[in-house]
Amino acid sequence: AMLDRTEAVDGDVHAYLHVDREGALSSARDIDERRSRGEQLHRLAGVPIAVKDVMATKGLPTTCGSKILEGWVPPYDATVVSRLKQAGMPILGKTNMDEFAMGSSTEHSAYGPTRNPWDLDRIPGGSGGGSSAVVASFQAPLAIGTDTGGSIRQPAAVTGTVGTKPTYGGVSRYGLVALASSLDQAGPCTRTVLDAALLHEVMGGHDPMDSTSIDAPVPPVVEAARRADVTGMRIGIVRELTGEGFQAGVQARFDESVQHLVDAGAEVVEVSCPSFTAALAAYYLILPSEASSNLAKFDAMRYGLRVLPEGVDDPSAEQVMAATRDAGFGDEVKRRIILGTYALSSGYYDAYYGSAQKVRRLIADDFAKAFESADVLVSPTAPTTAFRFGDKIDDPMAMYLNDIATIPANLAGVPGMSLPSGLADEDGLPAGFQILAPATADDRLYAVGAALE
Ligand code: GLN
Repeated sequence: AMLDRTEAVDGDVHAYLHVDREGALSSARDIDERRSRGEQLHRLAGVPIAVKDVMATKGLPTTCGSKILEGWVPPYDATVVSRLKQAGMPILGKTNMDEFAMGSSTEHSAYGPTRNPWDLDRIPGGSGGGSSAVVASFQAPLAIGTDTGGSIRQPAAVTGTVGTKPTYGGVSRYGLVALASSLDQAGPCTRTVLDAALLHEVMGGHDPMDSTSIDAPVPPVVEAARRADVTGMRIGIVRELTGEGFQAGVQARFDESVQHLVDAGAEVVEVSCPSFTAALAAYYLILPSEASSNLAKFDAMRYGLRVLPEGVDDPSAEQVMAATRDAGFGDEVKRRIILGTYALSSGYYDAYYGSAQKVRRLIADDFAKAFESADVLVSPTAPTTAFRFGDKIDDPMAMYLNDIATIPANLAGVPGMSLPSGLADEDGLPAGFQILAPATADDRLYAVGAALE
């Protein structure tokens, strides 16, 4: 049914870069057979899932939305992918994304943008627009996304779906093509909070293959989603992430959701996180710095594309590398590599990268202080509903500003969730409600999220 739905709608939505019809059907048949033999299977066995194209999938193309990885087929599975397979979940295909997960609209994909199922003239968010769009357009009940600065939560917000960025280290990064290793985290994209909890439980948990993986059991997310209990919980409204700069309809739905939580027995407090106003500036130094180092491995020798410079006989390795990177990387990727190498260069390191790391520390301190008086923090997920194609593509600053509310969580490593808060009055498009919790307290996101459904 999911594959048929994709045939019917994905010509318009373009959420998939690759559909593995045969693989998904054969894995579904295998599960059917095992079930009919009376085998005890995982509760998600047979539930199909889509995977963002940033995750290595054995035998299936993995491009990260980039020409430079065109034709690359990984010889191994990311840990997250092997856990899905172990649970018996058929993999439907790989979803579209901004090139190397850089962007907030999926317009930076080298293979063309994904369209928002609510309005095909609008962006589905980014970088994981494909994963949220397959879920929103009923092409898959579940999908995997990754969130380095909001790429699960912001697409969830603008497509009216649910997305969680787990605590940093809660889900293995092994086999996830790194954007910024100290910020990257994979998580669930779903239609309900309970679905997200069930998927979170399958994906998460310790992995010796990832040196930053937390050696502890997955927090009790499913139980929290089932109980949906917020009695006596202190909900902190972040002063710096509401009001001015947020679309009126987005703010109105946010205020209503807070009222629902009060009606359900929660208590509201206001908290201030003054360093959050510097989060964007710090992030857009730290991310390009790490990315410029991570992307150095795309050298025309090891993966995918190789372009020979025109009119050069017997080109040097350096000339082949330059020609390949010039042809293989898009504008946004080049912009960030240049920013990152500049910020890391000697003489500028302390002024830029060093200062950004100090701001990162202040943001973590702000969170710690806020969590003394609140059990969770809340804000709108994104300042606006889905914008139109072309609105921000030529103005990188405007695109970056869309991440204002999601970035602090990545810098501090704390978990966050976005879930729908309703439709904004001005445009009838979905608005997102963000919940943030202290590190390793991911279950609180699910308690609050489920109470709002
Ligand atoms: N919009 C953010 C960026 O462009 C999100 C990145 C991400 O989470 N992968 O960096």
